[in-house]
Amino acid sequence: MIEDKNPQRTSLSELGEFGLIEHLSKNLKITQESTLKGIGDDAAVLDFKDKKTVVSTDLLVEGVHFDLAYVPLKHLGYKAVMVNLSDIYAMNAKATQVTVSIAVSNRFPLEALEELYEGIALAAKIYNVDVVGGDTTSSTRGMIISVTAIGEAVEEDIVYRNGAGTNDLLVVTGDLGGAYLGLQVLEREKEVFKVNPNNQPDISMYTYIIERQLKPEARKDIPALLKELEVKPTAMIDVSDGLSSEIIHICKQSKVGCNLYEDKIPLDPQVISTSEEFELNSTTVALSGGEDYELLFTIKQEDYPKIKANPHLTVIGHMAQESEGVHLVTRANTKIPITARGWNALSEEKE
Ligand code: ADP
Ligand code: MG
Repeated sequence: MIEDKNPQRTSLSELGEFGLIEHLSKNLKITQESTLKGIGDDAAVLDFKDKKTVVSTDLLVEGVHFDLAYVPLKHLGYKAVMVNLSDIYAMNAKATQVTVSIAVSNRFPLEALEELYEGIALAAKIYNVDVVGGDTTSSTRGMIISVTAIGEAVEEDIVYRNGAGTNDLLVVTGDLGGAYLGLQVLEREKEVFKVNPNNQPDISMYTYIIERQLKPEARKDIPALLKELEVKPTAMIDVSDGLSSEIIHICKQSKVGCNLYEDKIPLDPQVISTSEEFELNSTTVALSGGEDYELLFTIKQEDYPKIKANPHLTVIGHMAQESEGVHLVTRANTKIPITARGWNALSEEKE
């Protein structure tokens, strides 16, 4: 489905490990004041002065987390950075550096890694983070990418998962379910392509959800927005596994219950129409489909006036006593217990 734009294939063995690292990192620029030393020594040196440092790592494995049949390498590089920056923003912190480690088999030419690093460099530039190191090694099969993101925050600003109070409001950014449905469309087109490689699929009615899957954007704007609105969330998490499992994380760690209102869950029209097409319930998609990389947080009731007019933020429920449990209040006004089911459970349902 993805055409090979770059027919040139330079074997990685021609460059050797050090030549490769030099080649891939030559377009990366250092812009952060806190970066004293980036790529090129035994370790990077960072200085956060009086700020606290936040660190988060994710590992992406070919065949488990991504399928190169429909994921362009540039997008993969971009997304690998995004999923990590999202964790930093979920701490209400500012992301400042990343390290990128890759393991590749000899099936990848230099040009493939150049594409991957184009995406990494683009993400670093747009999100204003420095790539300060990493590791490069070979794998016997497939590609593995690990990104570590580093950020800074003053201690008072950091938001954990465990601070939600009994009557706090539950708020989510953006809209949900798109990334999961984008994946369903891509998987379907991959099967069609296997049968007839000349078939050019018309995917114009799915552009938003495919973009949500292939090119997610971490919510860098939200910590800044919250500061501007003078709202400090009581708890926060990013939506990587699906709304239901993230709500349960906050509830467990904060020792509270929750009522989530089905009719409040923000859905893009493409999510609604594509759910219908795939005969999926759009609420289930939002609850269990992951990878939206939106932020989910709780605020004190008294802060409601400060956020209510904001188009990026939707109040979707409120917290309750722990003994009340965690429930979805449906459009028909019945209460259904929410269980932690990530996208795995959803794909099992399908089979
Ligand atoms: P070491 O032998 O100490 O692990 P390397 O030769 O692997 O050192 O790395 C040299 C420098 O290049 C280090 O600064 C390291 O962080 C950086 N580096 C290695 N691989 C990558 C990569 N894939 N992306 C970015 N920087 C890298
Ligand atoms: Mg190394």
